[in-house]
Amino acid sequence: MDENFINREILHVDMDAFYASVESLDRPELSGKPVIVGGRTSRGVVSAASYEARSCGVHSAMPLFQAKLLCPDGIFLPARMKRYKEISRKIMNILMRYSPLVEQASVDEAYLDVSGTTNLLGPPEKVAMNIKRDIKNEIGLTCSVGVAPNKFLAKIASDLEKPDGLTIIPRADMSTFMGKLSIKKIPGVGPKTLRELQNFGIKTGLDLLNFSEKFWIDRFGKGGKDLSLRAKGIDNSPVIPHLAPKSFSAEETFAEDITRVDQLQKYLLAHAERVGTDLRVHGYFGRTVHIKIKFADFKTITRSRTIAEPTATTISIFKLASGLLDELETNRKIRLIGLGVSNLTKGVKQLSLLKNDISEKQQKIDRVVDAIRRQFGNEVIRRGQLI
Ligand SMILES: [Mg+2]
Repeated sequence: MDENFINREILHVDMDAFYASVESLDRPELSGKPVIVGGRTSRGVVSAASYEARSCGVHSAMPLFQAKLLCPDGIFLPARMKRYKEISRKIMNILMRYSPLVEQASVDEAYLDVSGTTNLLGPPEKVAMNIKRDIKNEIGLTCSVGVAPNKFLAKIASDLEKPDGLTIIPRADMSTFMGKLSIKKIPGVGPKTLRELQNFGIKTGLDLLNFSEKFWIDRFGKGGKDLSLRAKGIDNSPVIPHLAPKSFSAEETFAEDITRVDQLQKYLLAHAERVGTDLRVHGYFGRTVHIKIKFADFKTITRSRTIAEPTATTISIFKLASGLLDELETNRKIRLIGLGVSNLTKGVKQLSLLKNDISEKQQKIDRVVDAIRRQFGNEVIRRGQLI
């Protein structure tokens, strides 16, 4: 095994015919039909085609007029990006249950690094099955997942058994897999490179390895080095979670206005639980806790408190929020209460908290709650006081 190789457990999740599938989800009468999503005029190109449309030879990036010739009975629909993004957000939220390291690669695909989570969540193939199950049950769509020791192989793997596929490339099979793999399947090999490689008589990963790394660097520069590494199945690029969040928050509008403080406290605890889990799952700590209250007359107020030491502990977040509520001394009717944590830092240890009343035990409870939620979903567990 090459010394450059870093072993990780990476999942690539890719929705099947995403835009077309969303259209069928929203209009079930379309399911099983050749659905083609593209621009509003015939001058556009195909953005997505259902598998029924693909069987007529239609594929994405094909001009629409050509798709119409190939598939005269096709149902041509304009793209509804807003709706696709809305579903995309739900999908990403599901993925984040399984790893804080989720990199969204496009509206319908993402990488997850699940290295070292086996004790908590089971082996990566189990995580992959759970993700497929959650997306199917909660959204109603299918996806294909690739499991491999790196991003590059995971992406290739997710494409191999579409739709509704699950493909695992174990580390032990990597060389054999790469040896047989057509160079056309290697991400990053564009038409121009492909032509040049074909001029050298190269068809598979194995053919690539018949030439030295230096040979490829001389011809393609840095791209040549990458190519040579890819042929060995090596890709050490990290999974980078995108956009750091500014705050985590939760709020709820009540079915009926509430005045009783004990009831409000229960909502605050539930919010603290949600926000605390979110912080911990994503590896964040916050210094500022705020509450937001909307009165029956829609007047809204916020109160906040900033502490010296960042926290991600449910109980400490709750205590701060609860103190803010107590100071309000309000007996007016309230229609919404919210809680948020901001002033975020990433991955700071909460050492000094151990000296305070927030014991190590509380942090252990948090970890257990988080683990159960990750496996069974958010509604399963609620702290004793909530019931
Ligand atoms: Mg896709």
